[in-house]
Amino acid sequence: MDPLRHVKPAVRQIQAYTLAAREAPVKINQNENPWDLPDAVKRRVLEKALVRPWARYPAFDPRELTEALAGFSGWRADGILAGNGSNELIEALLMVTVGPGTKVVIPEPTFTLYALLTGILGGEAIRVRLGEDLRYDTPSLVEARRRSGAAVTVVCSPNNPTGTSLLRDELERLCQAGDGLVVVDEAYHEFSGETAVPLLEKHPNLVVLRTFSKAMALAGLRVGYLLSSPEIVREVNKARLPYNLNFFAQTAALAALEEHAVLEETVRRLVEERERLLERLRDVPGVRAWPSQANFFLLELLAASPKAVFESLYRRGVLVRDVSSYPMLSRCLRVSVGTPEENETFLHALGAAFGEAGMDFSADTGRA
Ligand code: PMP
Repeated sequence: MDPLRHVKPAVRQIQAYTLAAREAPVKINQNENPWDLPDAVKRRVLEKALVRPWARYPAFDPRELTEALAGFSGWRADGILAGNGSNELIEALLMVTVGPGTKVVIPEPTFTLYALLTGILGGEAIRVRLGEDLRYDTPSLVEARRRSGAAVTVVCSPNNPTGTSLLRDELERLCQAGDGLVVVDEAYHEFSGETAVPLLEKHPNLVVLRTFSKAMALAGLRVGYLLSSPEIVREVNKARLPYNLNFFAQTAALAALEEHAVLEETVRRLVEERERLLERLRDVPGVRAWPSQANFFLLELLAASPKAVFESLYRRGVLVRDVSSYPMLSRCLRVSVGTPEENETFLHALGAAFGEAGMDFSADTGRA
C-alpha cells in the first residue's frame, strides 16, 4: 500500500506554505494593519449578520460588493472578481492558465505562493533575481518573458518582502513584451500611493490583484479582488469555487469601503511611522534598514546572525519575520510597521538584542 504514490511528484517535492505558530504581545510578522476597524463599524456588521439567516447560502454573485469595488477602484464592475482573500484569486488565475510545462516568470525573492501554486499545477517557474539594490530587473524580466514564451508573469508591487516597487513604465514594458498575462499583486499598494489600475484600459493582458488583509484591516475575514478585462475575469471565474465569499465577509468588506476615510488615516500614520523607524535606524551601526514603499521593511544585520536576533526579539515579546532563508536575503529580517508604541518596543528590544550580542546600538539616543 503506497497511496502517496498517487500524489503528483511535483507536489511531493514542494514544501508547504507555513507560518510557525508563534504569538507575541508585539506581533509585527504578517504585515497586518495594527489598528482594527472602529467598534461601531464592527457592531453594524454583526447586526446585519444577526438578521440574516445563516442557514442560507450567501449571494452566488456578490454584485453589491463588486459594484462598490468598481466605484472604489475606478474600474468596470464586469472586470472585477471578488475572492476569499487574494490568495484564492491567484490560485484561480493560475488554475486557468497553468498546466504541465507552462512557463511562469516569477522574480525572486518575492511572495512564495506564486511559485508554489505554479509547481502544484505542473508549471515551470522561471525565476528572475532582483537587481543589486533589490529593485526589479526589468530588462531581465522582459528577456525571460520573451525567451520562455511565458503564459504568465507575476510581479508583486510593492514587493513582499523587499518593499520595492515596479515603476509604471517598467510595467508597461512587461505588458508589451508578448501577450502573456502580467499579474501585479498590489497587496500593499495603499502604502506606496501607486496603482496599475489606470493601465488596465490600455493593456488587455494586465491583471491586478488586491486584498482587504493589509491596509483595509480585514485579514481575519478573507477578502480580495482581481481586476482585469471582462473576458479574462469570465475565464478566471470558472475556477472560483461556488459561494467562495461568505456573507459575513461580504458585509464587512462593504462596511470597510464605507469607512475608507478611517482606513486612509491609518495608512497615512503607518507610512509616517515607517519613515520614522527608517530614520531612527539609519545611523545604527551593524544594521541596514532598507527603504520601503510598503507597511514593512527589511532589516539587514551586517554583523549579527538574523536567527539569533529574531529569537532575542521574540524573548522580549516582539515577533518579526525571519526571511533569511530567501534568496539574496540571508542576513535579513522583515519587520512590519506597527503602532507608535509597538515600534518603540521593537526598537528597544532590538537595542537589548544587540547588547546581548555585545554590539553597540544607539537608535534610542536619537529623537524621542
Ligand atoms: N499577496 C501578497 C504579496 C501578500 O504578502 C499576501 C499576504 N501575506 C497576500 C497576497 C495574501 O493576501 P490575502 O490575505 O488577500 O489572501
